[in-house]
Amino acid sequence: MNRYILQGGTIITFDSQNPLLEEQAILIDDGMIVKIGDLEDFRDEVCERIDVEGKFILPGLINAHHHFYSTFATGLTKTAVSHNFSEVLSNLWWRLDKNLLEEDIYYSALVSALTSIRKGTTTIIDHHSSPFCVQNSLSQIAKAILDTGIKASLCFEVSDRDGAEIAQAGIEENYQWLKHCQNNPNPYLKGLFGLHAAFTLSDKTLSQIAEKVVELNCGIHIHTAEAETDEKYNVEHYGKRVVERLNDFNLLNSKSILAHCVYLNAKELILAAEKGAAIVTNPQSNLNNAVGIADVCKMKELGVTVGLGTDAMTNNMLEELRIGVWAQHLKQNDPSRGFTEITSALVFNNPIITQKYWGEKHGTIKEGSPADIIVVDYEPYTPLTEANWMGHLVYGISQAKVDVTICQGRILLWEGELLLNLDEQEIIAKAKECAEKLWDRM
Ligand SMILES: [Zn+2]
Repeated sequence: MNRYILQGGTIITFDSQNPLLEEQAILIDDGMIVKIGDLEDFRDEVCERIDVEGKFILPGLINAHHHFYSTFATGLTKTAVSHNFSEVLSNLWWRLDKNLLEEDIYYSALVSALTSIRKGTTTIIDHHSSPFCVQNSLSQIAKAILDTGIKASLCFEVSDRDGAEIAQAGIEENYQWLKHCQNNPNPYLKGLFGLHAAFTLSDKTLSQIAEKVVELNCGIHIHTAEAETDEKYNVEHYGKRVVERLNDFNLLNSKSILAHCVYLNAKELILAAEKGAAIVTNPQSNLNNAVGIADVCKMKELGVTVGLGTDAMTNNMLEELRIGVWAQHLKQNDPSRGFTEITSALVFNNPIITQKYWGEKHGTIKEGSPADIIVVDYEPYTPLTEANWMGHLVYGISQAKVDVTICQGRILLWEGELLLNLDEQEIIAKAKECAEKLWDRM
């Protein structure tokens, strides 16, 4: 089904100019939204029609910072008790990622992508780490993405923490992946240059990365001042704060993503804004690791584009949104502040960020955008208008079930059933088997 009309629902567009469309239909052709209009306008159109029977039509959601491989940490108890972020890294994540094999990378991405489809996420910016299985690790994730029909930007996190050879392999993996993306343009797969965090990267490695970034004309994707220790380490060892140090290597550009940024000072935020680098906030992860709450209101005041990601805490962007709002209320010590900033991060800024890589505006229902669309079974029992749709999104729609997920015009989920040439039960069984073996190796 290449050309069809989606009709019969209220459309929440995530387009600030025209956020709510009633009694309008969407003509989808060859993966794109080609026309939005009154049903009357489509009277002569001969193609299949899908009626969503009064439900809500929204854009496919975007997760701007994720780790597919973290899927296999769910329920893992074989770790020492961690009392701070450094211990969380060494007791959990750096033990898990060291033991990942190709099969784990593929299946963790596959189950996470399938859950994302069920939760209405169609585009994911991922950050991958598997220091003892570097080469071709990104093509394992790419295979999972193509098997599920969603879209992703991939990168491998370069770090010096496991020695120079692995750092070099990480640089090469990013380089090869980005070259592959440039030589084989594909609406489903993009790339960034992945860096772990400034506190595990030497100047020598940063300068090598900087050369490649110029050559490839790409952005970086890096954990930035997620905990205060990152700032302290960089000041102690290099006499510079994290963002200043990255900037000295010309690594901040308009395609770059700085994840977390809980501890950036005003000077660093202004620098990020001037260079056009986006910040992606991950509130649930920051709360879970007890590192703090990013000041998203201050980021916005200083002109930074702030997006929203889950950092693999969930595949559900609407859950992240809700908790992000509560966390920002607490951070501002004022329940009237932060709502718009966090909601805008998801609905307006994530599309701005992904447009830098895809060219087209994802995450917005408008003519000329890719047909990435979800249908949510939401029955409001209060008025829903142009003035309060964001309130419905956070407090109401976030609690409703995603019925349909469409990516690039292809229906991936229909009334809760995955329409993929995949055996979900077999995949889950295989993922469990991989996770069990991975835990045994840890
Ligand atoms: Zn992360």
